[in-house]
Amino acid sequence: MKFYITTAIDYPNAKPHIGHALEKLYADTIARYKRIQGYDVFYLTGTDEHGVKNVRAAQKAGIPVAKFIDKNVEGFKELIGALNISNDYFIRTTNKKLHWPAVHKIWRAFEKNKDIYKKEYQGLYCAGHEAFVTRKDLDKNGSCVDHGTPPEPVKEENYFFKLSRYAKRVHGLIKSGKLEIIPSERKNEILKFLEKKVEDISFSRPRKDLKWGIVVPGDKTQTIYVWADALTNYISALGWGTASSAKFKKYWPADLHVIGKDILRFHAAYWPAMLLSAGLPLPKKIFVHGFVSVEGKKMSKTLGNIIDPIKIVKQYSSADSPQVGTDALRYYLLSEISPTRDGDFSQEKFEARYNGDLALGVGNFLARITSLGEKYLKKPIDPDYGGIKTEIDKKFKAYEKAMDSFNFPLAVKQAQALVAYGDKKINDSKLWVLAREDEARFGVEIARVATILATVAQMLLPIIPSSAQKIFESIGIDPTSKKEWHFKFKKGKSLFPRLD
Ligand SMILES: [Zn+2]
Repeated sequence: MKFYITTAIDYPNAKPHIGHALEKLYADTIARYKRIQGYDVFYLTGTDEHGVKNVRAAQKAGIPVAKFIDKNVEGFKELIGALNISNDYFIRTTNKKLHWPAVHKIWRAFEKNKDIYKKEYQGLYCAGHEAFVTRKDLDKNGSCVDHGTPPEPVKEENYFFKLSRYAKRVHGLIKSGKLEIIPSERKNEILKFLEKKVEDISFSRPRKDLKWGIVVPGDKTQTIYVWADALTNYISALGWGTASSAKFKKYWPADLHVIGKDILRFHAAYWPAMLLSAGLPLPKKIFVHGFVSVEGKKMSKTLGNIIDPIKIVKQYSSADSPQVGTDALRYYLLSEISPTRDGDFSQEKFEARYNGDLALGVGNFLARITSLGEKYLKKPIDPDYGGIKTEIDKKFKAYEKAMDSFNFPLAVKQAQALVAYGDKKINDSKLWVLAREDEARFGVEIARVATILATVAQMLLPIIPSSAQKIFESIGIDPTSKKEWHFKFKKGKSLFPRLD
């Protein structure tokens, strides 16, 4: 059972913001969930380092482009660490050993199939998109709908890829569900795009205008244009096109591409067409997420409201509990933001969720159990499902269903419902009184609430991995062990210290 999951690769033209954090986190949560289920997971993320956008940002910073990119890529790697992302590889499109041979190979395959041809092109180029756009992509003022900037008119000779030749086939594959697009709004959006007259797409740019990139094989005057280069990362990272393609044989096709809604067309139309042309199997599923706004406003440099996720992680962590900031941010993004629509980040909501769900929720539930357990329990005890099995099973099933459909807020809700259920059990049984007055009943009741807590920790393991691990440690359980569980309680430091 293998599971190959990818994020889109990011332009390292600036520091990563909270939108980058969200996508990596979605993929990470799914990757961890699949690993728990026993899948052999390969999780890929990385950076898209060629293209006009990166060159311009480097020029603006007054730094040679390679150096500029190297520095910014470090920021993306730092983000991965700060969020506790469990990626198996980080692909950089400037990787000449792994990535470039694959791009050349796929280009040759297009050529062989006569899917590449040269023609004069006149069009509107959006640097934000790294793509030619059409009138449909522009707003009333003639600016790009996604980027808010007017595209530049460009006239040049380029190589074109015969997307038109594949539009119908790709449409059929998506419509039949062979290539699944989630959510259905996005599926319909791409189907509509493929039903209209689909134009061939430019796959190269004159080298004199764009030297920063991979040269077209057999034509030194042209540079392979970013999408033909970038999308190939999903197979180049597995060694396709090199002598060692064992990983490719094992993991391709991708089980899931996680992408933002702005690059749907490239992933759900261009990429499948490219794979068909190259005679390669298609990915199975594409999960398209929305965007994050900040305090109700779109993030932008001009508004100065770009949220740096690394800063948030640092702000809420302490030397005592370095995992708190990481898991607080993971928890917020996964529980508060709608995975398929847009969501909002606000400091106030962030702190309210932290205090409500983490400090006073699961953190407090853990503290209640471990403080009584450590003090009053003489020996380790076994889990006890008496009277609680139905409720636990019901919530766990709902949790799995939510996770399988990438509805993370709904998955988190199931864990929170079990916390409330367990808290009520402690109150109803007056566990702190039993601890002093009725040893036998205390043993039974604490075993039951600890069983609920262990289930909560299982559910939270892909969501807030370090904190869930700490819960397991506090109740004496190794979640990876196949041995029978015995609870042994140890009251440690507060899992989520309350914010004032
Ligand atoms: Zn644009």
